[in-house]
Amino acid sequence: MSAPKAGRMLLISGPSGSGKSSICRRLQEDPRVVFSVSATTRAPRKGEVDGVHYLFVDAERFRAMQREGAFIESAEVHGNLYGTLREPMEKALAAGKVYLVEIDVQGALQLKALAVPGVYVFVDVPDLGELRRRLEARGTDAPDVIERRMQKAAAERVERDKYDFVVVNREFDTALAEVRRIAGLEEVS
Ligand code: 5GP
Repeated sequence: MSAPKAGRMLLISGPSGSGKSSICRRLQEDPRVVFSVSATTRAPRKGEVDGVHYLFVDAERFRAMQREGAFIESAEVHGNLYGTLREPMEKALAAGKVYLVEIDVQGALQLKALAVPGVYVFVDVPDLGELRRRLEARGTDAPDVIERRMQKAAAERVERDKYDFVVVNREFDTALAEVRRIAGLEEVS
């Protein structure tokens, strides 16, 4: 009997507004992919479901989970805490799945520094002017939040060369196809 096929991690970062979340949503339609649901202390946005998009917890619970070793990494992003859960990752990898982790740059680089094996992909915007236009068009963030996201994006883009791949999202379907190819998730015909 052959050994069970181990899964692999696909880590995706990028400025908010880069289209990274939409790419992750589409990747999840593939039965070979399991999405990593992070814990966060951020309040749910409209339409977000507890346990599906995030595990929404308060700061006290988050700290307790941290102490218990529930996270493979955690980071503070825009004033809120986020952590990638260990247990579902181990289960998915043992089941031979592609474990999709949408994570900020600090978190991804923490994992890369620990030599956590995986494919690290940075989804980028063509330029910062385009990012501002997208964030404003999205209409989900107040002007001060947009400013914070712009500053963070500029800082994150400096780190993009540390990733295995940079995918510039000029056109959504092309960027999605590129990520699928990188992850070995081409359509099976
Ligand atoms: P949002 O609050 O907009 O959903 O996410 C804000 C940022 O936190 C995004 O860059 C997202 O990729 C990142 N993020 C989500 N979950 C985690 C996590 O578990 N760890 C880290 N380090 N970042 C995360």
